[in-house]
Amino acid sequence: MKMIFLGPPGAGKGTYASRLTAILRIPHISTGDIVRDEIKTQTELGNAIREYSDKGELVPDEIIIRLLTKRLRKPDSERGFILDGFPRTKKQAEALNKISKIDLVINLNVSDDIIIKRLSNRLTCKKCGTIYNKLTLKPKKENICNECGGKLYQREDDKPEVIQERLNVYRKKTEPLIEYYRKKDLLKNVSCDDLMTPPEVIVEKIKLVIDSVQKSRS
Ligand SMILES: [Zn+2]
Repeated sequence: MKMIFLGPPGAGKGTYASRLTAILRIPHISTGDIVRDEIKTQTELGNAIREYSDKGELVPDEIIIRLLTKRLRKPDSERGFILDGFPRTKKQAEALNKISKIDLVINLNVSDDIIIKRLSNRLTCKKCGTIYNKLTLKPKKENICNECGGKLYQREDDKPEVIQERLNVYRKKTEPLIEYYRKKDLLKNVSCDDLMTPPEVIVEKIKLVIDSVQKSRS
């Protein structure tokens, strides 16, 4: 099953995708990770990407598409994959359409209210980057990292007013994208209405959607 996960920042895409990847034995392909790896290995492309991000500019679509084409050609993607972080616009979806078939698009529906509560309670370790949550994933000692003893802090982009702005941008950009996949009859919605819903419950919901799509198409 070749899948795309859509959802606002803080919807839990990464968490659900990495759990499903273990169950379904298909890779979780995050364009964010691919880009970071490319920068780290200092390839020519990686250095070009670094220049864009140093200037605070978006990495052009054609670079992401080149990296993604390379990644999707690896043998482990043949049986399927979960794509996360791409596409974000209708234009990107059309480009993706040219390099891979897509079987299913999972749209994670999470209200702004829940996202803001979740992200504004997020704490990050200054030293090792481990993420905690004041409501759902508390550290053993207040404001101290379980892993390394580092100090926990709130990232600038996890502040409520910044989150609201990110959500507005997301909704505006992805609306046409959601419509694009709905028209192709590939879109399935999975909702999370409660902040305290454990990830396993949502993963199970997604799994049921995947199973039913697989059945209806076989
Ligand atoms: Zn730490």
